Amino acid sequence: MSRDPLTTEARRENAAALASALGISFDEAAHALDLRIAVTADPSDAVACSVADEVISLLSRTVQDISSEVADGAIAAELIIGCAAPRTSAVPVYLTIEADRFSISRGRRATQTSARLPALFQLLAACYASGVALYHALGGSLPFSIPDPLSVEFRQLGVDLADLEKPIDIGHAYLAGAGAIGNGFLWAARYLQLRGQLDVVDDDAVSSGNLNRQMWFDRTDITLPKADRLVARAQPHFPHLKLEPRTSRLQGLPERSEGGPWLRRLIVAVDSRRARRAIQNEFPREVFDASTTDIREVVLHYHVQPTQNACMSCIYEPDAEESTREQHIADHLGVTLEDVRSERVSPAAAATIAGRYPKFAQRDLVGIAYDTLFKNLCAEGKLTTLEGKRVLAPFAFVSVLAGTMLALELVRRLSTGASSHDDNYWRISPWHPPLARRRILRPRQPGCLFCADPVLSAVNRSLWE
Ligand SMILES: [Zn+2]
Repeated sequence: MSRDPLTTEARRENAAALASALGISFDEAAHALDLRIAVTADPSDAVACSVADEVISLLSRTVQDISSEVADGAIAAELIIGCAAPRTSAVPVYLTIEADRFSISRGRRATQTSARLPALFQLLAACYASGVALYHALGGSLPFSIPDPLSVEFRQLGVDLADLEKPIDIGHAYLAGAGAIGNGFLWAARYLQLRGQLDVVDDDAVSSGNLNRQMWFDRTDITLPKADRLVARAQPHFPHLKLEPRTSRLQGLPERSEGGPWLRRLIVAVDSRRARRAIQNEFPREVFDASTTDIREVVLHYHVQPTQNACMSCIYEPDAEESTREQHIADHLGVTLEDVRSERVSPAAAATIAGRYPKFAQRDLVGIAYDTLFKNLCAEGKLTTLEGKRVLAPFAFVSVLAGTMLALELVRRLSTGASSHDDNYWRISPWHPPLARRRILRPRQPGCLFCADPVLSAVNRSLWE
């Protein structure tokens, strides 16, 4: 991959995320991310070295300079993995890897070589270590505190370690969304032994700004279809899983009009609440879903039909923030609320938007998601409001954390055998350790647009009961 994934637009998306988190100006945020983090690992500690490589891959999407080299110039923080000695006078952050946990702390804890760890847990350690290193590199200015140490106990994850090495047959499954979380999922799932076929469904093309968080893509992918590029990049890492690119929305696939049940297993990585509700209306039997709320939170949801508990439309019901934001987007773009709610820019709306924002060519706007357009405008510092928070692009390590948790959920449900009757919802923070007791069983919502709709629920029952 190209050495520097941070295009101008990718930097802007990162700055928009940080500006929103800190309540500072876009320019101040861009300046704050113009920093250098060093990563240090003992060359004789193989696990430490591979975690270092993961951290460098993740943070190279966020900060100006991250490397295992100690070059001249100011270094904002040094991440030291295992027993290695610090090489700089920068703020030290230590990552200690033990057999049952990893810990990230300001003081040294490691006394021996890193424990052997499944590669998926190495990636998980890299996600959390990236967050803590960035937190301290920014001088602790993020508007929340983090524990010291931040210790992730593997028993909280709910998977049998042995199951991480075993083959998992996913049958014929679909991945909806080849954006940040779709990328993050395959970035993590390459460390599992997946079998079967996964159709990667996305009708969008890679944009320059996407490179801040979509791990598999580099500059040569810009303007090309996401589904094609993700499959081309990822397939060599999945010897027993056939990846099939489908440049379409899930709602546009031909198999849906053939009648009968077709969507037996669905992994959801789309980028909005509304898109999730639309996908629920496609009657998936089993849903593995992950979403992010800017840089603060990852939400995991799982259900299998027929269920008396929450569906995806129950979890992502319309709320005030969503309608305020849609109105806000409509106002700024000069289109109607109905236009925004149709999710994609129509030819007529494209003409209106191009009239207001001459930097956009009308033909390039047709078919674009309104959320994508909104992120683009936010990333220029044109729109920075509370209403935009939820759609702001998170940092790469947050999207990859969501993808890693999604991959672990696949193992937990399909191999370790966790039941959807026990829990179907888990909110975790990139800045705090995941806790198993926070997994909950969300009930059905009385006014759910799917469950409470007599026609939809009758079709659902006829398909899966
Ligand atoms: Zn529902």
